[in-house]
Amino acid sequence: MGPTPEDLLRQVFGYSEFRGRQREIIGHVAEGGHALVLMPTGGGKSLCYQIPALMSAGTTIVVSPLIALMRDQVEALTHNGVAAAVLNSSLDAETRRQTEQDLLDGRLDLLYVAPERLLRQSTLGLLARSRINLFAIDEAHCVSQWGHDFRPEYLKLGVLAERFPQVPRIALTATADERTRGEIIDRLLGEQAKVFVASFDRPNIRYSVGLKRNARQQLLSFIRRKHPGQSGIVYCFSRRKTEETAAWLAQQGIDAIAYHAGMESGDRQCAQDRFINEDGLVICATIAFGMGIDKPDVRFVAHLDLPKSIESYYQETGRAGRDGLPADAWMVYSLSDVVRIRQLLEQSSAGDDQKKLERERLEALLAYCEHARCRRPALLGYFGEAHPGDCGYCDNCQEPPETWDATEAARMALSCVYRTGQRFGAGHVVDVLTGKTTERIEQLGHDRLSTWAIGRETDRNTWHSVMRQLLAAGHLVPDPEGHGGLRLGPDCRDLLRGETTIEMRRDAVPSSRKSSTKKT
Ligand code: ADP
Ligand code: ZN
Repeated sequence: MGPTPEDLLRQVFGYSEFRGRQREIIGHVAEGGHALVLMPTGGGKSLCYQIPALMSAGTTIVVSPLIALMRDQVEALTHNGVAAAVLNSSLDAETRRQTEQDLLDGRLDLLYVAPERLLRQSTLGLLARSRINLFAIDEAHCVSQWGHDFRPEYLKLGVLAERFPQVPRIALTATADERTRGEIIDRLLGEQAKVFVASFDRPNIRYSVGLKRNARQQLLSFIRRKHPGQSGIVYCFSRRKTEETAAWLAQQGIDAIAYHAGMESGDRQCAQDRFINEDGLVICATIAFGMGIDKPDVRFVAHLDLPKSIESYYQETGRAGRDGLPADAWMVYSLSDVVRIRQLLEQSSAGDDQKKLERERLEALLAYCEHARCRRPALLGYFGEAHPGDCGYCDNCQEPPETWDATEAARMALSCVYRTGQRFGAGHVVDVLTGKTTERIEQLGHDRLSTWAIGRETDRNTWHSVMRQLLAAGHLVPDPEGHGGLRLGPDCRDLLRGETTIEMRRDAVPSSRKSSTKKT
């Protein structure tokens, strides 16, 4: 009989207890079952295949797309006395031959392989001549064509099931939406695989979403107030913005650097190494930064621009607080962000299905942003996980936003969009609602419309907030030509007819904090 999981956990890894469902997962694959493991980043996925690898004779093949991560893991394992090695294109011929021989001779417990290397006929042949006890497919969401990390080679990993039907497979990912889950099962595991879902809640992360006013200034005061001298990631939409933001923060005395895919690879590596090794560095980055970065003490992740979806938001914010200590996921967004993302989406060359899916994803994200109660049920619900709410730790729990019955205002705004011909942006619509007499309004004759000035009792900020929330809810949609005009969304009819009501968040008025007008 081989060693038990408990022995290995203690003797090899030096831990006293399994976390969450680790023990159950290990038992299942050690008995030859296939498994899909969905666990948030930092949850402890690696042990789920590292321990089974050591329980029986033979080698576990770990497929991972992240070369740097493979190297780190192999180093850590070797340090613990485990026979682990990497097979990838960075090896010199001699080392590669030696590693292959070690595999054939059964001297390896784990072998890490990049998917493109694994798929070569020569490698598959090598595996067929070796004794393999488990295939572990890490970052398994890369098989999803709808996801942002899609890797075509992952699709071809189905060959493992054909060529090695008797070897158990375990696929692991931190991306948990239903669709990705289904794709992984279909393509890599098969129906008989058992699915293990860990809780995706990250109780030490404080989620907050606010409105953009002066975004940089808001970011600066957030950093100064809550995270002076601490490490953080600031996600920006464009390369230019990462550079501008980093430069500006640096001017303000914050230690900040930029990172994006347009930088020379040496500079990029250097930025990444600095971020990992230095204390208290802020990195302003595009989404090119992050996958495979394992820095435990990132104290905040800030979004100056909306991420693409809730999954992206979850993944990106998940890089904060891996050490379990309090960390912030902070985001600001605005109406124009929403319009811009929607336009990019409509103008992209993606097929109709893909666009529809991305539209739905954006809508889900916006609903999360505008959510007026505890953020956790809204966030986790997206991954099919229930949460009782009232976490007491997110922005909405700590400072519940005021809501109001915006049904009447929504109807006014929607009819104004309709009467002006569904071609104008929010600014013009608000001008008409509040009864402005600009040259443009006169020229267009919009001051003669029945909706002109019907909203003059309400201030412009509130109207902008109504427009934004209508857009977030999909009651307004940008025109497909991308001129920034807004049209009625498909489901606003009930609202227009007064058959449903709508509650909206009341935005904190920006002037209320500093100006002296708020005496009442
Ligand atoms: P993931 O791959 O899910 O992001 P890792 O496997 O890298 O997570 O594990 C995250 C951290 O948690 C690692 O430092 C790991 O050593 C630690 N860890 C995993 N399982 C346990 C456990 N049972 N007890 C203590 N620490 C653990
Ligand atoms: Zn909460």
